[in-house]
Amino acid sequence: MAVLITGGAGYIGSHMALALRDAGEKAVVLDDLSTGHREAVPEGVPLVVGDVGDEALVLRTIAAHQIDAVAHFAARIVVPESVRDPLGTYAANTGKTRLLLGALVAAKVKRFIFSSTAAVYGLEPPTPTPETATPDPGSPYGSSKLMSEWILRDVGAAHGLNFVVLRYFNVAGADPQLRSGQRSAAASNLITVAARAALGMNDGLSIFGTDLPTPDGTGVRDYIHVSDLAQAHVAALEHLRRGGASMTLNCGYGWGYSVREVIDSVRRVSGRDFPVREAPRRPGDPFISIADARRIRAALGWRPSHEQLDQIVGDALRWEAFCWGARRPGQRTRRAG
Ligand code: UDP
Repeated sequence: MAVLITGGAGYIGSHMALALRDAGEKAVVLDDLSTGHREAVPEGVPLVVGDVGDEALVLRTIAAHQIDAVAHFAARIVVPESVRDPLGTYAANTGKTRLLLGALVAAKVKRFIFSSTAAVYGLEPPTPTPETATPDPGSPYGSSKLMSEWILRDVGAAHGLNFVVLRYFNVAGADPQLRSGQRSAAASNLITVAARAALGMNDGLSIFGTDLPTPDGTGVRDYIHVSDLAQAHVAALEHLRRGGASMTLNCGYGWGYSVREVIDSVRRVSGRDFPVREAPRRPGDPFISIADARRIRAALGWRPSHEQLDQIVGDALRWEAFCWGARRPGQRTRRAG
């Protein structure tokens, strides 16, 4: 039996491939390498290059590797891009999830783990946000994931497919052994941008809004270490293999840090200063996003082990120095394609 990881050459999927390999599980990656990186796929894990919406390819892969469970990471994830190109986002995320599920029903695969997002909750959810909060996505990206959740719910009920939907809060950091990390030069998430600023790889960073209704006026987020998130997927797989019921779970720690607190952490851990500018709010950004994180602990027995902000930041810093320092010395990320 093996687990098919779609998007396994990407940031989070590659950490899932590592976590499964570390757990002695067999895994196979399906990735079209449009944003993923071949070198992100761990050694010993087969890579099938192709499209998750290609039913014949998915069926061949399932048969060739005796796939009994699928973890579906492959997606478009850039929110502003989803606003510019909603049709492309719905095709890539919702449409292809529907096609993938069609292939799994045909092949009688009964276990599915879906990468969803706190973006389904929208701009003003209750804080901390429980899974029972009414979804109200603030972007096509969030809508594309919520619609996928609904398709999955209905397909699960009709075809006896059990699933775990994992709604990620702010994923950050890198594998502590530096076997994987954020490989995208275009990554715009706060901890990556700040780590690159500390390493002199960009011109510093802008704080998007300093007059928000939060304790220090800047946005607050629930940052989760990517390795803890990968472990949540392993726990979800074990749950499904035990015959556990379908469920939807937040993936966060249940507390948040402001942009200024993240910047302080990056300065402290790196021992370096870097330019920080105050900029206007970014449209569509919630002020505060914090998970009510109790359900996943109760349901899966998941216990994070990298939840200190300085540890998340430290792993991000070490990864950035290793990845870009080793591969492209002296180059700035924006030219490092
Ligand atoms: N942020 C910022 N400057 C940046 C990137 C992000 O001030 O260069 C802020 C953003 O407004 C939010 C928080 O940092 O309050 C986390 O943003 P990120 O893009 O990492 O994730 P998001 O929560 O938007 O998915």
